[in-house]
Amino acid sequence: MSKIDPNKLLISSDFYTVQGEGISSGVPSYFVRLGICNLTCGMSRAFANMLAKEQKLEDGEIFEGDLHKEGKATWTCDSTSQWAWRGEDKEFQYLIDRWKEQGIYEDIKNGTIHLIWTGGEPTIKGHQEAIVNFFNYWYKQENRAYPYHEIETNGTVVIEDELFNNLDQINCSPKLTNSGMTEKQRIKPEAIKRIMEHSNYQFKFVISNEEDVKELFRDFVVPFSIPLTKVVCMPGLDDAANFEERTQFCLEMAKKYKFRGLPPRELLESSKLMSEYIAQLLLRENRSVWIAQREGRTKDGNDATHSGVLKMLAMGSDEKNIMNYFKRIKIVPVSISYEYDPTDALKMPQLMAEAKEEIYIKEKNEDFITLLSGIIGQKKRIHLHVGKVLDEEIDQICAENDNTNKQIQALAQVIDDAILQTYKLWPTNYIAYDLLFKTDQFKAFYTENEKSLFERRLEMRIDETNPQMVEGFLAMYANPVVNKMKYENAG
Ligand code: SF4
Repeated sequence: MSKIDPNKLLISSDFYTVQGEGISSGVPSYFVRLGICNLTCGMSRAFANMLAKEQKLEDGEIFEGDLHKEGKATWTCDSTSQWAWRGEDKEFQYLIDRWKEQGIYEDIKNGTIHLIWTGGEPTIKGHQEAIVNFFNYWYKQENRAYPYHEIETNGTVVIEDELFNNLDQINCSPKLTNSGMTEKQRIKPEAIKRIMEHSNYQFKFVISNEEDVKELFRDFVVPFSIPLTKVVCMPGLDDAANFEERTQFCLEMAKKYKFRGLPPRELLESSKLMSEYIAQLLLRENRSVWIAQREGRTKDGNDATHSGVLKMLAMGSDEKNIMNYFKRIKIVPVSISYEYDPTDALKMPQLMAEAKEEIYIKEKNEDFITLLSGIIGQKKRIHLHVGKVLDEEIDQICAENDNTNKQIQALAQVIDDAILQTYKLWPTNYIAYDLLFKTDQFKAFYTENEKSLFERRLEMRIDETNPQMVEGFLAMYANPVVNKMKYENAG
């Protein structure tokens, strides 16, 4: 690989479009594609070097690499024509001028248009430093720039602090055996762990058959404990001939293994349809919509508003400023707590599997049975608190944050604060906390009789000789106490 000058940006292409993949699907985005990659998916290094020397590939041309042809890979990198030789060293001012020429400078500056660093591989030596140097150069011109930076990486190079701390989102596409790359080339544990330290990351995989799915669990999801909500799988779509078949396969695998498997276009379309439907109900039919803070039910008593839910809601907006839309749809934080969770024991197998870093495959109809138990099962006392419409809070968020993404994060925080503030804790929560942490800190909040009843429930519902299971069960009830204490201490 040639040496990269950290005082320039080695750009193969840069263009304004709409993100078509992963969790930011549909977001207007400016892509900066940097030259050179440390991998050569579908090809041997010699073959890639030969292509770079000949420079015969048309820009964007799809072809089969030597490993692909020999059956050692099932796909070939579709951006080779870009990164293998089309890069050109550009002064930092180049990008800023380009954005101004296109009339999108302000939108990139305030994060409305995402800035996406892609490649090649934008984390290889030289590129990381160049991106950071670019930020410093830009921020010297603008004291108030709040761009939204995403990076697309193959997850084989550790992202250093200076770049890491400037990123709002990391989209990692680890490579499987189907790329033709060796395990040593494509799995770098320290780089994967580093990505998982970020607050906003996703792992995207290209799958062609069930072996690929088993491999991604064996080599990535299980050893690194990657939450399934962070895993997106896409069909290898380099061959248009079997597009439908591969897409269908990907959806079947998603159902079976519980990762996100919608192909990019469908993911975008289904989210958009859902958000437009919600807008229709709220704004035109004057009806209410109850929506969870994040996808799925909490298994461990921890719940928090996922900014992706707010972004999905915003897709139904007809306003330029989405915070105006959030005011119009009238968001009301609601907290609900049960004295007993009728599904507590049903949640244990999944919690245990996660604790043991095993893959948990749900039984047929398991979701339905849990849902039904949740509705009709015995909860004893229930507390429901309906808050007030968030209005001045949204004005305040707008006054304090220019950047759309930061506004959404602040809104998620306001919703969480309102829910936690009014979330009622029951004796069962305090008992579980005291048992879990072997203390009597909260003994004033329950009677001996209530404690014996709770202990009896624990005895009857789970295997008391399994310490992990006992701990998981207690934590499920105790976590709301922990969260409320954190909230009160922060206030
Ligand atoms: S890591 Fe990405 S850019 Fe590099 S060869 Fe593989 S697919 Fe292409």
